[in-house]
Amino acid sequence: MRKTLLTVLLGASLLAPSAAVAQVAVKITPAERRAAEAITAQQLSTYLHFVASDAMGGRDTPSQGLDITAEFIRMNLERWGFKPAGDNGSFFQRIALTRDVVDPSATKVTVGGQNFAFGEEMVRFSGNGTGTVNAPVVFAGNGWMVKSKNLDPYAGLDVKGKLVAVISEGQPSNRFPVPMPQGVTGADIPAAGRGTDWADPVSYAQANGAAGVLILPSKFLTEGWSFVTQAFGRSRLTVDKLRRETVSSTPRPTTSVYVASPKFTNALFAGEQGNPLSGYNTSFALGSGKTIGLNIVNKTETQWTQNVVALWEGRDPNLKNEMVAIGAHYDHVGTNLNAPGEDKIWNGADDDGSGTVAVLSIAEALAQSKVRPKRSVLFVWHAGEEKGLWGAEYFNKFPTVDVKNVVAQLNIDMIGRSLDPNNVIKCDAPGKRCNEELSKANEIYVIGSEMMSSTLGAITKGTNNAYLKMDYNYKYDDPKDPNRFFFRSDHFHYAQNGIPITFWFDGVHEDYHQPSDTADKIDYQKMEKVARTIFLTMWELTDLKERPKIDKQLPAELTQR
Ligand SMILES: [Zn+2]
Repeated sequence: MRKTLLTVLLGASLLAPSAAVAQVAVKITPAERRAAEAITAQQLSTYLHFVASDAMGGRDTPSQGLDITAEFIRMNLERWGFKPAGDNGSFFQRIALTRDVVDPSATKVTVGGQNFAFGEEMVRFSGNGTGTVNAPVVFAGNGWMVKSKNLDPYAGLDVKGKLVAVISEGQPSNRFPVPMPQGVTGADIPAAGRGTDWADPVSYAQANGAAGVLILPSKFLTEGWSFVTQAFGRSRLTVDKLRRETVSSTPRPTTSVYVASPKFTNALFAGEQGNPLSGYNTSFALGSGKTIGLNIVNKTETQWTQNVVALWEGRDPNLKNEMVAIGAHYDHVGTNLNAPGEDKIWNGADDDGSGTVAVLSIAEALAQSKVRPKRSVLFVWHAGEEKGLWGAEYFNKFPTVDVKNVVAQLNIDMIGRSLDPNNVIKCDAPGKRCNEELSKANEIYVIGSEMMSSTLGAITKGTNNAYLKMDYNYKYDDPKDPNRFFFRSDHFHYAQNGIPITFWFDGVHEDYHQPSDTADKIDYQKMEKVARTIFLTMWELTDLKERPKIDKQLPAELTQR
């Protein structure tokens, strides 16, 4: 499940929750029941302890841990006799990810005519600026203007066309490249008033036409300089063929921000009225003739990731051309060495290790079944879901199979956790991550099944009623739900592509997107029940006489993000 800023933009124009769906009498035969029982809690636990192990490093996209997980899935599919359905007869659909990086060998930096090695003595923190700059420099203290605190380091300075040098006082934050000065709190920088009542150095530089921001190194940056030179100078990876920037929670400044080494800083301030590295913090314009020359050349860096795609062929000579698709995302958010605390690896056991291994177990059960279903079954493990549903979007825009023959898609994203009745953390409990909306042991949230096809809705509900009778909770199956779960996992791109979907989800909990989302916290009995039920739902769909009719259209509002 993808984490997004809560976008509560939904107006009253959206459609009302779906009306009740006609019940369909689903009958589960003893043979089908036996086939589903090949999925066991023990098997799910074994697979998940592999996929969510620390060795996978949190399965970031792209990463070696994600590639190993893909190889693990592929190896099993091959052993079980699946047909590869990715690129060129392989199980992988390869996805190129690209970004701009500074080409240090072609890039030149000078201070007052003296050469410095870009990438060693100066790095680019953000922005994509290329080309030539030859700009005078102004020093603006810590660069924060906060009128309510009488802070204005820009008084009497003209920054237009100049590089604004600021001294960083600590660790850059997620919100600002330069941390807020001591004594300034979030209350002093209201949501409105940026650029007039208050400004961080980058927004001030941008609003006032500066040539860029140069961050002078704090003690923190100086100590971690080798990390600085490795980490910066790269823009964010994007999917080359989709060419859309990752949705970011912080607006990307168009002003380029650079970080200077201590050596560079000392050269810049030599002979000036004070050196910020020695504690000087009064703003001033550096001497005339003292300019920084920058000639930055970008190059494109390509990395690869992949969806894992496989087909189980149906037995009916005509219907086998049609497919029921089943999927999960096998990526998570990786490792963060800068995270506070001991645990640096986000294992993603529930999100979405649980879906990854549930789909794998469904594949194994299908391969063990004595009969084949009538239609074929398409398995897709998606990469990059956490980055913005990359894998699902890519598969739907550049499908490796004839996607109009996909009659429905079943998406599994988080089905492994249950609410412990002795540990209900209310969402208004101060300082704690709540879990009160987590589904109970015999309960699961079902989303989207009735939005496009009454038949799919009825099969989804009817299979559960005819089998384990779990509590299907349709609370989030409402386009007006402010959590917007419908938009936040892979099925979204299938629905947008005209394919009816059902999505199973256990709810947000205290370990959601935390390093503590680990395999030991999973309720494997629940996972077994949900996975068996989805297996049979898939089976009922493959054996339907006619493909589920699309008798409702998604409202236009639902197809936009
Ligand atoms: Zn997630």
